[in-house]
Amino acid sequence: MTDRLHAEAAEGVAGDDASRFTPASTLVDSHCHLDQPQFDEDRDAMIDRARSAGVRLMVNPGIDLAASRAAIALAERHEAVYAAVGVHPNDCDGFDAGTVKELRSLAAHPKVVAIGEIGLDYYWETVAPAQQRRALEMQLELAASLGLPVIIHSRESNQDVAAVLRAWVNGQAFRSSPLARRSYAGVLHAFSGDLALAQEAYGWGFILSLGGPVTFKNARSLHELVPQLDMTRLMLETDAPYLTPHPHRGRRNEPAYITLVRDRLTELYGVTPSAVAQASTSLALRFFGLEDAYSVGNPFTQGATTPQHG
Ligand SMILES: [Zn+2]
Repeated sequence: MTDRLHAEAAEGVAGDDASRFTPASTLVDSHCHLDQPQFDEDRDAMIDRARSAGVRLMVNPGIDLAASRAAIALAERHEAVYAAVGVHPNDCDGFDAGTVKELRSLAAHPKVVAIGEIGLDYYWETVAPAQQRRALEMQLELAASLGLPVIIHSRESNQDVAAVLRAWVNGQAFRSSPLARRSYAGVLHAFSGDLALAQEAYGWGFILSLGGPVTFKNARSLHELVPQLDMTRLMLETDAPYLTPHPHRGRRNEPAYITLVRDRLTELYGVTPSAVAQASTSLALRFFGLEDAYSVGNPFTQGATTPQHG
């Protein structure tokens, strides 16, 4: 990120009414598709609603080159929006070295904070698994060379995703890359694995993120798993406009609903909402390399000395 953007972001923080951003109400939506056509009618109002709900930052991953460009365009228009660039496994037909070259040039934008979302999807399997794997491996290699963390999508493919990531983090190319020197290498988004996978992922320098599904009444195994997951390695997300939390299920999701995810995690961990917000927000800032941008008048650190009323 350039110094100019750092300065602008810091100015934005200093200019905000700090009381609006106590840790109890400050959240990061680490994964939302604001560029999608479901938001064409009310995109700016939707982003304003998120800000009013306490969502300080939103990270918009790409699913293909066009969406990655759209994510960057939104990030240029909205101070609170950052972009990730990448090609989703369901959209990786025809992915080749030319696609990587294009992603590399998009990733040079100062508001691009990750490569994603990338991964494997055996549920839809719109693209042959071998091609999905090829696209995933090429984008992992790109992320390592750029020193950007990865946002991983895995649907009914946890075993193969784990095999690819295990080989990647243990390979020489990764270990000598700038990414290996960062606090975290990637996130397993909308985590659907078990405790063993979570623990292995922590060992790779990965973290997890959870969204709407934790609020589903029938998600019993997830409810049992959550308290065993390290809260300091868990980011919040909505995956809007998808994976809408209860009680809005069946309708369009949007980042303002992330408070429902926070509240359900609060119950599952048996802590205060501010504890969940504080842990997940400071993790997200570290993960995306944005702590410096938000260190001036930092509401997260101010909160440490402020009485908290969960
Ligand atoms: Zn997504």
